[in-house]
Amino acid sequence: MDKKAMNKLSYGLFVLTAVTGTKDNGCITNTAIQVTTDPNRIAFAVNKANLTHDMLLESKVFNISIISEKADFEVFKRFGFQSGRDVDKFEGYDKFKRSANGVTYVTEGTNSYISGTVFDTVDLGTHTLFICDVTDAEILTDDRSATYEYYHANIKPKPEAVGKTPDGQVVWRCTICGYEYVGDELPDDFICPLCKHPASDFEKIIK
Ligand code: FE
Repeated sequence: MDKKAMNKLSYGLFVLTAVTGTKDNGCITNTAIQVTTDPNRIAFAVNKANLTHDMLLESKVFNISIISEKADFEVFKRFGFQSGRDVDKFEGYDKFKRSANGVTYVTEGTNSYISGTVFDTVDLGTHTLFICDVTDAEILTDDRSATYEYYHANIKPKPEAVGKTPDGQVVWRCTICGYEYVGDELPDDFICPLCKHPASDFEKIIK
């Protein structure tokens, strides 16, 4: 089996937001799809390690902001590369509004948002699959939706931008953000300084 075929699946990128009490939070997901039109339902899977996962199980209410090709890497760093358990992802952030359901949605680097409530869940082990009723939706811009492929090709930082190295050196490149570490061996406990992903997300390349 060639697992790289999985990368040929085409899917979008989204900021999933929820609120419990006064706590706003959100995470990046790439799994949202419309599953039925009548009733209008969507589904998405969320890793159980994400705080948004637990908040959504509790509140049952959410927004999905659809990321566009105009999105900056910053939105991925803010919502995808840190945990709401450690930081307030909305602190110092003003690129959002609150919809009628009381949940935030992202207004920069997005082209629309969908509001919904949880209809059912399926335990998938590492993730929970949420099947949801769409309760509202708005178009924000005419910008094209970003695909996961577009993100890798155009949004994540280019290696040149994070430190170009001379030919002949052994380089470990972060497959998530493109950061390059120079050295024959990458320490097991290395954490990407840019996107905070672990050593297991680095690939070895010879320049
Ligand atoms: Fe990285």
